[in-house]
Amino acid sequence: MKCSTVKPMISRYVDQDLDPDEKKAFELHLRECPGCEEALAGQMAVHHLFSSTERFEAPYGLATRVMARIEENEKRTPFWGFFTLQPTFLRAVEIAFALMVVFIGMVSGNLLVAGRTPERPLTVQESFSLDLFQATPPDSIGGVYVKLTGASDER
Ligand SMILES: [Zn+2]
Repeated sequence: MKCSTVKPMISRYVDQDLDPDEKKAFELHLRECPGCEEALAGQMAVHHLFSSTERFEAPYGLATRVMARIEENEKRTPFWGFFTLQPTFLRAVEIAFALMVVFIGMVSGNLLVAGRTPERPLTVQESFSLDLFQATPPDSIGGVYVKLTGASDER
């Protein structure tokens, strides 16, 4: 008999749950194997520890009450409770928030420019000009930029 076969039998041996043939083979192995003998001694010590303690009877209906309480708690958890602490759910919320910020930025940017957009599409030079913004004072950096790019302030 191998140790791997004997080890799972130890607790059954302690509980005297082995049939006579199993018990004989088990005890034969123990005589030759100090490792399994030590494991048996450990389990015997635990067994004696528990068998010598005073036993208390569980109050009537304890199991029923515990199970009822567990069921009650499971019902109380809201249906969205599963989602709230999941990392994947938080990641999805982050992505949705980022998309919303980008969308709001696009919409508000279009609203800002919409009133000033001419009938014809903007040329590249016009699209880079500062005419989209308020008039630039001539001695400001914006004014210099307007002069350098040749863009004219139409107001
Ligand atoms: Zn062994």
